[in-house]
Amino acid sequence: MIEFTNVSKKYANGVIGLHNINIQIEPGEFLFVIGPSGAGKSSFLKMINRQEKSTGGQIMVKGLNVSKLNRFKVPKLRRQIGVVFQDFKLLQKMTVYQNVAFALEAIGLPSKEVRAKAVAAIELVGLTNKMRFYPNQLSGGEQQRVAIARAIANNPDIIIADEPTGNLDPENSTQIVNILKKLNDEGKTIIMATHDHELIFEQDCRVITIDHGTIFSDEVKGYYETN
Ligand code: ADP
Ligand code: ADP
Repeated sequence: MIEFTNVSKKYANGVIGLHNINIQIEPGEFLFVIGPSGAGKSSFLKMINRQEKSTGGQIMVKGLNVSKLNRFKVPKLRRQIGVVFQDFKLLQKMTVYQNVAFALEAIGLPSKEVRAKAVAAIELVGLTNKMRFYPNQLSGGEQQRVAIARAIANNPDIIIADEPTGNLDPENSTQIVNILKKLNDEGKTIIMATHDHELIFEQDCRVITIDHGTIFSDEVKGYYETN
C-alpha cells in the first residue's frame, strides 16, 4: 500500500530530513513512528501525502508514484489520506459540525452527502451531543476527536497522525489511540508518530524508530529499542 525505496529529503537550506528510507507498509497495519525531536518523523509522514516532496528515491502510495505525481493529481492522493496534527488545526469560528462539513464541502461533495458523512464521523468519535459547540468550548481531547472526525469523514484508507496526543493528558491520549485502534479494526491503515513510550507499551503494534533521518529499528509487536 505504501512503499518507500531509498527515499531522501534534503530541505532547501541543505538540512537532511531523511536519508535512504526503505519501508513497506501493508493495508490495515497500525504503525507507530518514534524517535527524538528532529529525528525526521514529521518529514517521513509528510512524504506520504506529498506535503513535502522527496528529493531522492521513490514513494508509492496506493499505486500512485508520489514523488513523480503531477501537482494536479496531488488532490487525488490526499483524498485517500486523513491527517491529524498535534495542535488540532480546527477553525475557531466554526462549530464542530461545520469544521467537519467544511472539509467535505471543500472537495465538492453534494450537501446531502456532506451532512450524512459529517454526522456519521462526529458520531464515531462520540461527539454527537456537542455538534454545535465551538472548539474553545471543548477540552483538548474533544478537539482532537473533532480533528479525527474531520480526517475520516470522507472515508480515507490511510490515516496519518503526527503526535496527536502531544498536547493531551494520559487519559485523553489513551482515548485518542483507542479511536485510532477502532478505525484500524475497521481496516484503516494508521501511521502515528509519537514521543509517548507508555502509550506504545500498551499496544501490540509495529514500531519503527527514526533517528538522524534513517530508520534504525523496525520491530513488530511493541518491542523497540530506546537510545
Ligand atoms: P521530527 O518530526 O522527528 O521532530 P522533523 O522531520 O520535523 O523531525 O525534522 C527533521 C530534520 O529536518 C530536523 O533537523 C529539522 O530541523 C529539519 N527540517 C524539518 N522541516 C524543515 C524545513 N521545512 N526546512 C528545513 N529544515 C527542516
Ligand atoms: P448550508 O449548506 O445551507 O450552509 P449547512 O449544512 O452548512 O447548511 O448547515 C447550516 C447550519 O446548520 C450550520 O450551522 C450547521 O452547524 C447546522 N447543521 C446542519 N446540519 C446539521 C446536523 N445534521 N446536525 C447539527 N447541525 C447541523
